[in-house]
Amino acid sequence: GSGGKSRAARAPSTGKPAVTPDSVINLDHGDPTMFEAFWRETGDAAEIVIPGWQTMSYFSDVTNVCWFLEPGFDHEVRRLHRLVGNAAVDGYHVLVGTGSTQLFMAALYALSPPGADEPMSVVSTAPYYSSYPAVTDFLQSGLFKWAGDANAFNGDTYIELVCSPNNPDGSIREAVLASETGKAVHDLAYYWPQYTPITRRADHDIMLFTVSKSTGHAGTRIGWALVKDRGIAQKMTKFIELNTIGVSKDSQLRAAKVLKAVSDGYDELSAEGKQAHHHHRLFDFGRRKMVERWSMLREAAAASGIFSLPEETSDYCNFTKEMAATNPAFAWLRCDREDVEDCASYLRGHKILTRSGSQFGADPRYVRSACSTGTTPMTSSSSASPLSSEVKREYD
Ligand code: PMP
Repeated sequence: GSGGKSRAARAPSTGKPAVTPDSVINLDHGDPTMFEAFWRETGDAAEIVIPGWQTMSYFSDVTNVCWFLEPGFDHEVRRLHRLVGNAAVDGYHVLVGTGSTQLFMAALYALSPPGADEPMSVVSTAPYYSSYPAVTDFLQSGLFKWAGDANAFNGDTYIELVCSPNNPDGSIREAVLASETGKAVHDLAYYWPQYTPITRRADHDIMLFTVSKSTGHAGTRIGWALVKDRGIAQKMTKFIELNTIGVSKDSQLRAAKVLKAVSDGYDELSAEGKQAHHHHRLFDFGRRKMVERWSMLREAAAASGIFSLPEETSDYCNFTKEMAATNPAFAWLRCDREDVEDCASYLRGHKILTRSGSQFGADPRYVRSACSTGTTPMTSSSSASPLSSEVKREYD
């Protein structure tokens, strides 16, 4: 996206790439660099130094089901959930993964019994996150296969992926299927106060989280799962053992430090003495940014007369103790023009790259457009990065 960095003209006032008539604005994928400004102000509270002799062993805690989980990371994950109140941690196993993407794959493996007559059906209500079908079918496993929209599924044996708030449309979701043999995986990547009011302490069997969305550290590639059942936790751990023999300790230490800095920012005791802490609250910063962006976006959509956005909903947030609106990381934009059947190509004609609704199992009149992407829309000159050769990404 930002391939034109060195060549693109810069706006003298901001130093950011200038938007010129031939600029391409890439809103196809999100990248949480929006949070960079916050972390630049954090200083050494989120910094780590790792001497050459440290983090050399494969093992972290051989007495734990997840033997490669760093105890310090486990501690900060539980502490942050207790602070925010978005998920139950008591009685849960914490598992670490290389992003929540690896834990998603581990969950598919753990929930698909070996030696079944047919692959396990994996479903999710449309519009669903475009990575789900892509990752599920990538290796054409005999254990599981993508089976599309959960609402159109017939049968008792399935894995239902429940993403809430949902990527791409930000909706709050519950499982739509129920059966003795059906299983649900709750992807709660966006269930944090900058995106949505925290209305309940989630306590599902398998819940997935990631620093990519909570703190913005997508490049650290650290996610975690909260898993109730010990047997499932063991199988998920086995998957990661055979996939990558564990998860980078260096990344876990960094993620632990970052989560600690977030919790410390809200810690009453430390805030009292240190003003710096008091003004350094990630979820407040994130919420402010998201509110700003959504108000500009809603204004622009209304002014256009041809685009509509999902209705804004609000609820009481148990964390902030205030009413709060939902501020999704993505905009699920509908083009209402009668003559436009494919909103993504219509926007592409105007040098704006978005992801078609069809990639989310939905109507191509819709597109998903990134909202929590860089500090400015990623721009590049169309000659440096022709639309036709844009790398197609299915994640984020
Ligand atoms: N789940 C959802 C709903 C996401 O949007 C993303 C990232 N875009 C992920 C999971 C993957 O996150 P990670 O970077 O931890 O692999």
